[in-house]
Amino acid sequence: MLQSKLFGKTLREGPKDEVSRNADLLTRAGFVAKEMAGVYSFLPLGLRVLWNIAAIIRKTLNEELNAQEVLMPALHPIENYQKTGRDTIDILFHTELVSGGHLVLGQSHEEIVVPLAQRFISSYRDLPLGLYQIQTKFRNELRAKSGLLRGREFLMKDLYSFHATEEDFDAYYEKAKTVYANIFQRLGLGDITFLTFASGGTFSKYSHEFQALTDAGEDIVYLCESCHVAVNDEIIQEQAACPKCNAPREKLVEKKAIEVGNIFPLKGKFSDAFGLSYTDEKGAARSITMGCYGIGLSRVMGAIVEVHHDEKGMMWPEAVAPFAVHLLELSGNTANLEVKKASEKLYKEFLEKGIAVLYDDRGDKTPGQKFADADLIGIPWRVVISEKTIAGKKVEVKKRSEKDVVFMTEEQLLEKISGLTR
Ligand code: ATP
Ligand code: MG
Repeated sequence: MLQSKLFGKTLREGPKDEVSRNADLLTRAGFVAKEMAGVYSFLPLGLRVLWNIAAIIRKTLNEELNAQEVLMPALHPIENYQKTGRDTIDILFHTELVSGGHLVLGQSHEEIVVPLAQRFISSYRDLPLGLYQIQTKFRNELRAKSGLLRGREFLMKDLYSFHATEEDFDAYYEKAKTVYANIFQRLGLGDITFLTFASGGTFSKYSHEFQALTDAGEDIVYLCESCHVAVNDEIIQEQAACPKCNAPREKLVEKKAIEVGNIFPLKGKFSDAFGLSYTDEKGAARSITMGCYGIGLSRVMGAIVEVHHDEKGMMWPEAVAPFAVHLLELSGNTANLEVKKASEKLYKEFLEKGIAVLYDDRGDKTPGQKFADADLIGIPWRVVISEKTIAGKKVEVKKRSEKDVVFMTEEQLLEKISGLTR
């Protein structure tokens, strides 16, 4: 991608109405643009990150949980919510058809996925089943001031599982914990994301959250540093010890965190409301037990920024970065043709090798502006071509996460980053 043609420009000053770090950096770097509190447009750079996050989640769910992707509607009939008693929850956006008929905008999809599954599940042979989607959710959140962390319109992956027996559900739920840990690891949040015990409400003793530790987080968790699980604010009240290793309550350390995902047992709450059942081997009708499993993709993007940045800008993990390489052409005021040609040649080589590259070919920016923009945007590898590098027959390479530059030949560089194709 030529940076001179990129839609969305870096801004020298942050937006005055953003109090959160993620919104400030993402807006200044041209990744997102705010429409109103909790509602954002994703510009090309931001959308590339979002789709990279989606790709990791998809691949992991497909391969490690045998889940199947669907896409359900965002317009829901209120009647489905009357069946489950969720028609009065406060975060629902309501609307209506011109022809009459009360609709709500999807805030979660139990009320859609259960009747959908009912059309196709009849016998034990159809179970277990895992269905997921990646879709925009609408929630009339009271407070939306943390940038992408709390949207009124936001991207979520929601997975629903259907089981013949409690035992089958339990095994799947345990597997989902591992699969979630793998996802957060691949997203670059592995080291700071902890399985967190939350109260299970009426359904079971526990449900689980995946909490990423950051001071920008809205939640408080209590981390057990010896076994690496946490307990959330609500259940710590009744918790005398770590639920995993039994370490005493005083050993758990209070931390701020943001919930990037959660998993919880639904038992028969939604399946029973719609009369979803299956017939067992003997032909008897039996109820279905369910689980649901969420990850907020746009929240994950905000959380990555909160965790991976310095005073100059963002520092994207390679797996989700909008581009693998930021190529800076420093041809100077005289528009040195040799520098331009060498940059264009290397740009083409990157493309041929399938390496995503943002090429700063802008003729009206000083080297200082280009360096500052590269730091702000935060692409993992910065490669500079200038008169100096041409004279030395080596390009200047710097990792965003490291302090020093190194010089290497183009061949050495291409070999070093050959693994970055996606
Ligand atoms: P929270 O307690 O933070 O409001 P939640 O309990 O409402 O989250 P779910 O309804 O289970 O969460 O949604 C699943 C996932 O979607 C959450 O783990 C989170 O990552 C994400 N999420 C929830 N609400 C929002 C929001 N308003 N903006 C962005 N992401 C969200
Ligand atoms: Mg919520």
